[in-house]
Amino acid sequence: MSASMKAILHQILHYLVLFLSVYTLVHNVHCITEDITDYLLCRKCGHEIARGTDLTSMPSKLAHRQRNDTISGVKDVLIQLFQNPHGLYFEVVTTQEADVQPTGEYSNIQTWFLDYMWQLVACPRCGTHLGWLYSYVGLESQKPKSFIGLILQNLLEDIESQTIIHIPKTYGS
Ligand SMILES: [Zn+2]
Repeated sequence: MSASMKAILHQILHYLVLFLSVYTLVHNVHCITEDITDYLLCRKCGHEIARGTDLTSMPSKLAHRQRNDTISGVKDVLIQLFQNPHGLYFEVVTTQEADVQPTGEYSNIQTWFLDYMWQLVACPRCGTHLGWLYSYVGLESQKPKSFIGLILQNLLEDIESQTIIHIPKTYGS
């Protein structure tokens, strides 16, 4: 075997080992982060909007469709499909807490949750419309006073974002 052939083989072996170790590292980091509380991020700017563990189920009879899925490591999160008066469809998850900026007036027109008035909420960093703040105006004392409905299409899961940029967060700190 010539010296150049040996050098090439050595190079190939080198990259193979490098690839395998990086693959193992990334895979392990991914497995670890799945156990940690993950955030739902603004899809446009990456701002941390809500924690997966704050998501709650607020079933509505006005939903076109309901399904359950794992979101940010939380299993069986209720995801509801709603249609607005303009014919647009939104998949919505509900949460008790979110870092969002309420904007505009309160309204009870075409509310998707009976006895709740709504107000638009936006990302505090980039201003993207992320959903609605719902405030209870009914008489039942055991109902949640308020909650936030977030548009799933406008959010990004933390794990999803790590996959996109190919660099796990742990490496940066
Ligand atoms: Zn944003």
